[in-house]
Amino acid sequence: MTFKDLDLSNQLQYGIDDLGFQNPTPIQEQAFSVVRSGKDIVGIAQTGTGKTFAYMLPILRDLKFSKQIHPRVLVLVPTRELVLQVVDEIEKLAKYINVRVLGVYGGTNINTQKRAILQGQDIIVATPGRLYDLGLSNALKLKAIQKLVIDEVDVMLDLGFRFQLMNIFDILPEKRQNVLFSATMTEDVDLLIYDFFKNPEKISVAVSGTPLDNIEQVSYNIPNFFTKVNLLNHFLKDKETYHKVLIFVGFKRTADLLFKHLEEVFGSETCVIHSNKTQNYRIRSIRQFDEGKNRILVATDVMARGLDFDDVSHVINFDTPDFPENYMHRIGRTGRAEKEGKTILFSTEKEQESKEGIQALMEYQIPVLELPEEVEISTLLTEDERPREDQGISKNRTSLEFVPGAAFHEKSEKNSQVNLGGSYRREIAKKYKKPKTRGDKNYNKHNKKK
Ligand code: ADP
Ligand code: MG
Repeated sequence: MTFKDLDLSNQLQYGIDDLGFQNPTPIQEQAFSVVRSGKDIVGIAQTGTGKTFAYMLPILRDLKFSKQIHPRVLVLVPTRELVLQVVDEIEKLAKYINVRVLGVYGGTNINTQKRAILQGQDIIVATPGRLYDLGLSNALKLKAIQKLVIDEVDVMLDLGFRFQLMNIFDILPEKRQNVLFSATMTEDVDLLIYDFFKNPEKISVAVSGTPLDNIEQVSYNIPNFFTKVNLLNHFLKDKETYHKVLIFVGFKRTADLLFKHLEEVFGSETCVIHSNKTQNYRIRSIRQFDEGKNRILVATDVMARGLDFDDVSHVINFDTPDFPENYMHRIGRTGRAEKEGKTILFSTEKEQESKEGIQALMEYQIPVLELPEEVEISTLLTEDERPREDQGISKNRTSLEFVPGAAFHEKSEKNSQVNLGGSYRREIAKKYKKPKTRGDKNYNKHNKKK
């Protein structure tokens, strides 16, 4: 597909030509008509796949010339640097279009920004904090906003912007299109979508062309959390082979639980990072791991993106990511710069489907190894693994981050509109709680025999 197939305006096509782009990237191709349709959309694609233009092309395509003061499009990004970058990209793309774009962010004079806003803008690109301050002042009127773009949603949430986003949702017109883009699909991203957006169309572009040849992959079928811990301990006792081990888990509470158990055995050799840890704690953990002071690092997926460590001996997937892209992000932390890397995948019966997704994406069957004889099969179940009634998930979520307020009402209203009642809740609960059933015991026996 070429840009010609996208039904761009001539002006946009000239902008593209000047940029020297030949073809739209897959996410650009797939997002174009969905963004134009006005539906809420969530786009997931690896870093560097052209997500900025995936939302800007269709938005610019349909943005009519206007002299009105109040902006119609709001783009939220997590950092100042990104504000500048996105503004710059929009300006290049819109070289032949009469559109007014302004970037605003904290740490600079707010009055200068207010004056610029009052001159009239079409698109505002902002960090959440500054946008909220401006929105509360009289300078920025948000009532004309028709499209809200949240770019780099995973980073946004990882930096703790959830509150800020909720506050912003409160002061935006309810009738608007929501456009979300992220490099990874994390639990936090999923929850944000579930809480605030109406049946968004999800577009997920698989990671492609990832060099896998220098990464040796193996997998184990394991019945439950504590057996996974036993196997992990078994590996980690061999300090020479497992000299720099990065362990990935999908959820913060799994990270904390696992860390607790590893710490009992390996003490200060272990550290953990996830988005509920303070910035300082995270920076310290990352440094100590990279320098070799800590041999073992437990991390959640969202952390996988920025991390660049030398000579990781093993990446261990303590759980099997639901989104195959996350597996690619994870294992990409080893085998860097042409070095040999090793990765091990742990999967329960419930996780087999996710594993199949990963294998389909890679077009590669990960060899399954038998559990070593010495590793004890645990019959203990974690609280999350125990079968339970439809409860707990909402309690759990609200205890994480709950701010009563209009945003909350917006949420309940939306939920009732699309009737996401008990069954959806159970679905989510199933997904995050991974309740275990008795069938797993047989699975385990079956496994051992194989
Ligand atoms: P992401 O947000 O997915 O990380 P960006 O939107 O920042 O990616 O784009 C990454 C780079 O690719 C930018 O330099 C951008 O100008 C360039 N780019 C975007 N779209 C195309 C395209 N269709 N063809 C070639 N290069 C592109
Ligand atoms: Mg981007």
